[in-house]
Amino acid sequence: MRATIIHAPGDIRVEDRDYPTVQLPTDAVVKVTASCVCGSDLWPYRGVRPTRRPTAIGHEFIGTVESIGSGIIGLAVGDLVIAPFVISCGACPQCLNGVTVACDHLAGWGGKDDTGLSVDGGQGQAVRVPLADSTLVKVPGITEPDDALRKSLLTLSDVMATGHHAALAAKAGPGRTVVVVGDGAVGLCGVLAAKRLGAERIIAMSRHADRQAIAREFGATDIVAERGDDGVARVRELLGGVLADSVLECVGTKESMDQALNCTRPGGALGFVGVPTGGSEVPLRYLFDTNISIGGGMAPARTYIPELLADVLDGTINPGRVFDVVMPLEEAAEAYRAMDERRAIKVLLTP
Ligand SMILES: [Zn+2]
Ligand SMILES: [Zn+2]
Repeated sequence: MRATIIHAPGDIRVEDRDYPTVQLPTDAVVKVTASCVCGSDLWPYRGVRPTRRPTAIGHEFIGTVESIGSGIIGLAVGDLVIAPFVISCGACPQCLNGVTVACDHLAGWGGKDDTGLSVDGGQGQAVRVPLADSTLVKVPGITEPDDALRKSLLTLSDVMATGHHAALAAKAGPGRTVVVVGDGAVGLCGVLAAKRLGAERIIAMSRHADRQAIAREFGATDIVAERGDDGVARVRELLGGVLADSVLECVGTKESMDQALNCTRPGGALGFVGVPTGGSEVPLRYLFDTNISIGGGMAPARTYIPELLADVLDGTINPGRVFDVVMPLEEAAEAYRAMDERRAIKVLLTP
């Protein structure tokens, strides 16, 4: 099969790999029908996170169950499934508390499972899925989604679940004013999630016309293109002299965290989901003085998918609009370039 391998920063290749097979009774093999490049894939691509050896990459995919181990009870060959961005057991205290990203048996795509067997990356033609019963979510009643549905289902792997996590942590809801920092796929999904939770006034911070258009479609009522102090001043002006009740930080740099914190009113809530990479720090004394609460972190996508899936299937939300480019898997290197250079919001790869 063909699979995407990162060799070094900027060096993405699509190569031949052995077709995966069931190794353990709790495995399933999934034939990937759509995968994609994530903003967080750009950290190793840019060398911000090291790549020590050639590594299979990609952690967002949907596909069809092709074979199952003898211990699988909840899945059948032919099922359409969504893979959350990490593997989880569903039975440990962390999973039972809904924090599947801290599972005692946690494993990642392209890494090793907790028995030491290697796991395929998501940007390939097929994947051996460990702990498949508890990791995968079956899409009920559908085996051949149309293009629009396929895109929306794929966002549940990560970006829509992550936007939802940010909105929950920021306590977005009816009567709350919301600011979203970051206009990547997660930020845009954060706008959609805030709207879905009932927020009426949603300010998206974005400088790109194409991203602003999707933000508006997803429920943003205002766009702020300014950054830094000018951006804070513009938010304050739009909200009648106060800052926002709920702020979603969807980037992960020091600048974006500072921007988010400076847009939050005293007593407000900040939800952060950008992978911290730029040296951002939490100013504890400022939080003490202002009573701002901070929450968030890595989104437990597996916990959120069933609830979000219901809204995707009945057409309430259409997060798949964040995919503005579709490319064949063979062009994965170009997909990374397009994302890195911000020519694409999010690229879907077809196997
Ligand atoms: Zn991702
Ligand atoms: Zn677990």
